[in-house]
Amino acid sequence: MLDAYGRTIDYLRISITDRCNFRCAYCMPPEGIHLVNMADLLTFEEIVRIVRVLSMHGVNKIRLTGGEPLVRRGMIDLVRSIGSLEKVEDLAMTTNGSLLAVMAKDLKAAGLDRVNISVDTVDAVRFGQITGAGKLADVLNGVKAALAAGLAPVKLNVVLTEVLHQADVQYFVEQVYKYPVDVRFIEYMPIGDCQIQPGASIWTVKQWIESYGKGKLQPAVCKGGGPAKYFRLKQSLGSFGFITPVSEHFCQACNRIRLTADGKIKPCLLANTEIDIKTAMRAGANDFDILNLFESALRQKSPHHNLQQPDREAGVRYMTQIGG
Ligand code: SAM
Ligand code: SF4
Repeated sequence: MLDAYGRTIDYLRISITDRCNFRCAYCMPPEGIHLVNMADLLTFEEIVRIVRVLSMHGVNKIRLTGGEPLVRRGMIDLVRSIGSLEKVEDLAMTTNGSLLAVMAKDLKAAGLDRVNISVDTVDAVRFGQITGAGKLADVLNGVKAALAAGLAPVKLNVVLTEVLHQADVQYFVEQVYKYPVDVRFIEYMPIGDCQIQPGASIWTVKQWIESYGKGKLQPAVCKGGGPAKYFRLKQSLGSFGFITPVSEHFCQACNRIRLTADGKIKPCLLANTEIDIKTAMRAGANDFDILNLFESALRQKSPHHNLQQPDREAGVRYMTQIGG
């Protein structure tokens, strides 16, 4: 599928739920959010149907996200259903990792290819501060379980906030030598009026990485690279990625479209345009209608986002409600 600017759209990011067992300060307010009724979430049957229709028209990469996707009951079955669709070539998940220690093996067996796990600091106290309720040990066990299960590549997402210290970066340098993990530093995006102090810049993090005597970062490529720019240290197993939605946007190469847990197509993470597909499906839309709704959403993709002047007219959604 093509959008109005000639960009090929082959990647669908699906938010499975708006619920989460963490309260990350950059993603939702401390008191949590107003949750969608279960009856208003897309059912697994509806999600699989959408993926099937789009996969017949060139969408071959799927990412399951949230909220925390693994808190929704039946996720293994959903992974199995999507993974068995012939034209889905890459099935990935973004997770906070807290439930991976028990689920990684079954997810892999069901057809999940790879995971991105969020780890913003490896200091247990600061981890508790940023995630509200998260236990660092659970997440690190989840990372180990993902590697052991053969989910590959395992990517660690680190949002640049005040809780990331130089010592964390040293830990990540050690990890890329021990394991084939890709550690991605992501600029904090001011979405949903969250109260958090941005942390070190990408430039500072690069300096920290190179200060451990392992040499300079060398450009590298990575499977499912997406918007990150990847680098490697000499003879490291894993790599570092830098994602700069704020300081240097990558919209010209955008290949994605999003589906929210409550059944809205979102042409762009950072715009408020939403197209209601759930109501149409529940009113009897056929596969052709579903495709048409996505094509109309693609026509509404803007050439680039404008984070400096966000479009707030349709109200504020937090990241956990959109699916980061
Ligand atoms: N619960 C899962 C997790 O935390 O990985 C998946 C959903 S979360 C919304 C997806 C990704 O968005 C995470 O890597 C998270 O760190 C990132 N994220 C959330 N809010 C963000 C923000 N304001 N700026 C940048 N990244 C953000
Ligand atoms: Fe939950 Fe992920 Fe948002 Fe953290 S970033 S609150 S884990 S959805």
